[in-house]
Amino acid sequence: MKEILQSYPAYRRRQAEEAVFQRLIEDWDEATNLPLDLRQKLKSACPLGVKAEVLASARGDSAKAAIELSDGAVIETVLMRHQSGRNTICLSSQVGCPGACAFCATGQMGFVRQLTAEEIVAQILFFSRLLKKEGGRISSAVFMGMGEPLLNYREVMLAVDCLNDRNKFNIGARHISLSTIGIPVGIERLSREKKQINLAFSLHAPDDALRGRLIPLARQHPLREILAALKNYIDATGRRVMVEYVLLDGVNDSPPAARDLARLLRQSLERLFFVNLISFNPTLRYRPTTPQKMKIFQSTLEREGIAVTCRYRFGEDIDGACGQLAGRKKP
Ligand code: SF4
Repeated sequence: MKEILQSYPAYRRRQAEEAVFQRLIEDWDEATNLPLDLRQKLKSACPLGVKAEVLASARGDSAKAAIELSDGAVIETVLMRHQSGRNTICLSSQVGCPGACAFCATGQMGFVRQLTAEEIVAQILFFSRLLKKEGGRISSAVFMGMGEPLLNYREVMLAVDCLNDRNKFNIGARHISLSTIGIPVGIERLSREKKQINLAFSLHAPDDALRGRLIPLARQHPLREILAALKNYIDATGRRVMVEYVLLDGVNDSPPAARDLARLLRQSLERLFFVNLISFNPTLRYRPTTPQKMKIFQSTLEREGIAVTCRYRFGEDIDGACGQLAGRKKP
């Protein structure tokens, strides 16, 4: 788009961007304020269609799109509708994922390729257009879909800028979150950015041995290294980090695990963090913890002085865990 618009006056670029990001046109023919020759060039060089298959949750609180990219790869994007009327989009940053997490369908697909910023933005455009038809908009975005966002740093940051841009999706930085399994160099890079986005760290185990079994990629970075990078991030930005912990039945959900987790976090992060306990969507060989065990885990952490939240289980009936839908299609 930029290349084509270079030879036109600057206001044409503003008009084109306004048509794509604010009016959310699906075809350049709808941008009637642009001259016909420009529309035709844009139509052939940057078509606006997004090829997708949508599954809506029976409860109506979420929808998942399997988006087919130009090379035939399939990624997934989830829209979560909150009762308050807010809408959160869960974005993918890679096709497949090198994380290889044992409890995640995407992880079993392996890593295929990085997404471009445009392919990340296409996910947002797709659901923005859908919501526009019912008078809604996306109010927050999380990079928690397929892929490890800090391993696709540049493209993810370009997409973040587009989400945040007042003239594009206009989503406040504080409503944009990025979830990582812990890439120290990426965390350090992020702590130098002047962005107010949120950072979540997927910990899932209180020690390296269990973590290495659940998240094979984590074997490359011992917890001490990751937690040191997170501590620097907290000190540099003054921002709170969310520590995500998915509770797997009989694997990491015991009260001693909760106590080890509390000790580890208190000692290494000291301040400005909280734990988010995630009730797991059953996949592959793991089962979710029971509500009773989750309660005990939560109160054990709280007794140890740790702030805890529990995530509502969105979209279980449409295979809400990352990679479950795309995993059934050929990437
Ligand atoms: S849980 Fe996240 S990091 Fe792990 S394999 Fe799945 S997509 Fe990758």
